[in-house]
Amino acid sequence: MTVLVKPQKLVDAKVREFSMLIDGKWVEGVEAGTIERVAPSHGVAVSRYKAATKDDAVKAIAAARKAFDDGPWPRMTASERSGILLKAADMIAARADELAYLDAIEAGKPITQVKAEIAGAADIWRYAAALARDLHGESYNTLGDGTLGVVLREAVGVVSIITPWNFPFLIVSQKLPFALAAGCTAVVKPSELTSGSTLVLGEILMEAGVPAGVVNIIVGTGAAVGPTMTGHPDVDMVSFTGSTGVGRLTMENASKTLKKVSLELGGKNPQIVFPDADLDAFIDAAVFGAYFNAGECCNAGSRLILHRDIAEEVTARVAALSQKVKVGDPLDPSTQVGAIITPQHLEKVQSYVSAAAGSGANIALGGSHIDFGFGQYMAPTILSGVKPDMAVAREEVFGPVLSVLTFETVDEAIRIANAVEYGLSAGVWSRDFDTCLTIGRKVRAGTIWMNTFMDGAAELPFGGYRQSGLGRELGRHAVEDYTETKTLNMHIGARTGWWMPR
Ligand code: NAD
Repeated sequence: MTVLVKPQKLVDAKVREFSMLIDGKWVEGVEAGTIERVAPSHGVAVSRYKAATKDDAVKAIAAARKAFDDGPWPRMTASERSGILLKAADMIAARADELAYLDAIEAGKPITQVKAEIAGAADIWRYAAALARDLHGESYNTLGDGTLGVVLREAVGVVSIITPWNFPFLIVSQKLPFALAAGCTAVVKPSELTSGSTLVLGEILMEAGVPAGVVNIIVGTGAAVGPTMTGHPDVDMVSFTGSTGVGRLTMENASKTLKKVSLELGGKNPQIVFPDADLDAFIDAAVFGAYFNAGECCNAGSRLILHRDIAEEVTARVAALSQKVKVGDPLDPSTQVGAIITPQHLEKVQSYVSAAAGSGANIALGGSHIDFGFGQYMAPTILSGVKPDMAVAREEVFGPVLSVLTFETVDEAIRIANAVEYGLSAGVWSRDFDTCLTIGRKVRAGTIWMNTFMDGAAELPFGGYRQSGLGRELGRHAVEDYTETKTLNMHIGARTGWWMPR
């Protein structure tokens, strides 16, 4: 049924050892404990990191604070900072194969896909370098003879950056270069499952000329270092990407010292399809949207909302194409769907499928795991006859599982699309301009794709409505997110006031 790409055993796999980066030095950490990553695709250990404790997090924050308060980074010209970011982008491109291998083996992502992500990440570093030189405030020479107003943009300070496992290198690249472009310093914590590529980024940044203490990278569980990174009074801003639940905790913790918070969280993204759509193009996008990154993607198009007149035909065609998707060895360049991140996560994905089937949904394709004898994999799965109130239609499954719902009117499609707590992205498929724009305006999501799905560019802002997050990444305002606004209100000439003659 599914096209399988059986993984080759990793017979001579070496476990790569990583330290943590604090104040420009690679260190073992206070307790010298370790975290070992087992490849989800091959079931063997591939990376070992030094595990940070609360004390390490405090040291990293102190280094970032000192680098911000006393160091050269925030005081350099934008041209100098931009030059270093451009150098980093070149070095990312030069080490692309190494970075791609780490993300593929630690996260189970297909190698061809990850290579494109690393190239995209290098492009984002270049974009941030360009924005660095255009960061500026405003001036008001219109406030009367006695006043000149100048609005400055100043770096917000020390930023805690926390990232998830599903796009390890890409997501840190959606945050860190913009923070650096603004003149901030940072403590970065990648997911403890996929920290390798972020630590290599640390090597690149040191070599590119980022001064000591500006970027500190620690590896640890959320429980061990999360509360310190999100609550410490010396941190000015938290930029978090991950689940909505942990996002909420992050915000609660940051609220104690009223930090600025940016949150990129989960999604339950619909693709709404009308009978007049280019169905050939849609079928391809449906399969891509559902199974890209094994569905472990905040932007996954996990809900198809099909017009009743085409639902049966479209479901059958999506199922037919889904069977051609190549699932298996992430290291094989032909693979399209790799491994599932952990055995526990595979169980969770499967429990959504069985609960949906138990509530009356029909398993039109797949539904079970794939057993290669090691690692964990899930077959592309389609559930038809899904009702909007089922958990699989409302909650983020984060696996290669597609739910099919139906509608009859535009209003009903919009209602179903908006009937979840998320609002990250959505797709609409129709050749009718009015239909696309009506959906585009009324669906509450941060990105609406029209007759395409999951395209992106560094220039386009990305983020969610409602419980999909707070704030936007990328786009030309991305650097401003890492700044504070300061007003200089300047008086010219003799001042008149309360006790002075007017
Ligand atoms: P997660 O929330 O479990 O973990 C994310 C990060 O937070 C990890 O580094 C983790 O160690 C850390 N963390 C855990 N507990 C913490 C705590 N108490 N305090 C601070 N940090 C803590 O998410 P995940 O399973 O790694 O990633 C999957 C989730 O990420 C999905 O919900 C997905 O939709 C979301 N995501 C969103 C976007 C987006 O841009 N909107 C992009 C990718 C992933």
